[in-house]
Amino acid sequence: MDEPQLAAQWARIRGRLQNEVGDVEYRSWLRQMTLVGVDGDEIVIHLTTRFLRDWVRNHYGDRLNALWQQENRQIRRVALRVGGDASQVGLAESLASEQSRVELADPAPVNGEAARPDGFGAPENRSFTFDRFVVGKPNEFAYACARRVAAQPACPGFNPLFLYGGVGLGKTHLMHAIAWELSTARPNGRPVSVAYMSAETFMYKFITAIRSQSTMEFKEQLRSVDVLMVDDLQFLIGKDNTQEEFFHTFNALVEAGKQIVVSADKSPSDLSGLEDRLRTRLNCGMVADLHATTYELRISILQAKAAPTGIDVPHKVMELLAHRITSNVRELEGALNRLIAHANLFTRPVTMEMVQEVLHDILSARDRKVTIEEIQRRVAEHYNIRLTDMSSARRARAVARPRQIAMYLAKQLTSRSLPEIGRKFGNRDHTTVMHACSKVGELIERDPAFAEDVELLRRMLES
Ligand code: ADP
Ligand code: MG
Repeated sequence: MDEPQLAAQWARIRGRLQNEVGDVEYRSWLRQMTLVGVDGDEIVIHLTTRFLRDWVRNHYGDRLNALWQQENRQIRRVALRVGGDASQVGLAESLASEQSRVELADPAPVNGEAARPDGFGAPENRSFTFDRFVVGKPNEFAYACARRVAAQPACPGFNPLFLYGGVGLGKTHLMHAIAWELSTARPNGRPVSVAYMSAETFMYKFITAIRSQSTMEFKEQLRSVDVLMVDDLQFLIGKDNTQEEFFHTFNALVEAGKQIVVSADKSPSDLSGLEDRLRTRLNCGMVADLHATTYELRISILQAKAAPTGIDVPHKVMELLAHRITSNVRELEGALNRLIAHANLFTRPVTMEMVQEVLHDILSARDRKVTIEEIQRRVAEHYNIRLTDMSSARRARAVARPRQIAMYLAKQLTSRSLPEIGRKFGNRDHTTVMHACSKVGELIERDPAFAEDVELLRRMLES
């Protein structure tokens, strides 16, 4: 069976399911399915979490089987498995194959100083490569832009490339990845010279050059590179002379057909204190932002970082980390590394108990009394529904069930009365809350997967 054919069948099946179950239901549960391929007479579909897999199996398993059998006679069964988001891999792969990648036989030349002018930093962190960057909705655009620049520097429309986003979202990682990629390429038979530096280093070198009266040399060096990358440009704000120097370097390089890559914590338009003419130039190329991570992306990142260590990190643990450490990938990674180091050191398996023990400080720093709003937010996020649906009148199961779970948790975790809880959920009656509590209690008894999920939510909110 060839792939395009399968993909077309899958697209038809998805379309049909979407029609049958409606948009919301589809988006909440089914959109996350990824077709992996055929295994004998089985079609293999991945879902991102165990919970989702069980849900899809229980609610749509038969329908999926029937639809596949209708579409393709060779298929006897649908196998739902838990796996990474293959669409991300797909994107990475298609982008990778788009460019003919120069594989590096010997990594030594990457650091070959011949490739770049003296005194300019080569990216030193070898783990900041494209293949170690986990791609998801929040960063796929920035990632694609970075790959494009790495494949084809100084391509019109992508020069300068301006990457921006909050702390720890991967700006430096992407810049290093571009630099690595370029330092292995030899488009015209000669190496591309890349200068990567933080804005602070730029300033430091500039000031030192002024002091030692070697600004001409400094300028020449900078203007001789093929690609200039300046990380954390926001540090140049208020440093007028350095900004001015950067502006001239920038212009000289762009005019000479060289590539510029810049990162900052805000967009050019929002970087107040930036000279207007520099702002204008920065806005001329491609501006790409790294959005805050989503829960799904955080899980994927944890999976990607845990896999090569050979330590088995239970999904529950990853879920807890992804729920609790939300703002910064560096911190998320740090927490995971601590668990792995601990597991290695004491040859102990990673467990929820270990998390409490080893990450006590990180997790307790975030401790506070749980509020109903917090419960609503977490539950909505977990089930991928809108926060407003917690108080809306909509009764579709895909929103009604999470709403009931949130009511149940509000009753369990706060000291609010039933009428008070009802009011927070769109002025519902206290009997509705009571009904929700008993319904959820009943489902917990009956359905272990459901119970596990509510338990996870409870623990996250509580710990
Ligand atoms: P920034 O420069 O935006 O502050 P970094 O690039 O230094 O952030 O990223 C912080 C840490 O998080 C690094 O260790 C980086 O490898 C990691 N990281 C961030 N985003 C991702 C991602 N999408 N995939 C893998 N690692 C990531
Ligand atoms: Mg950085």
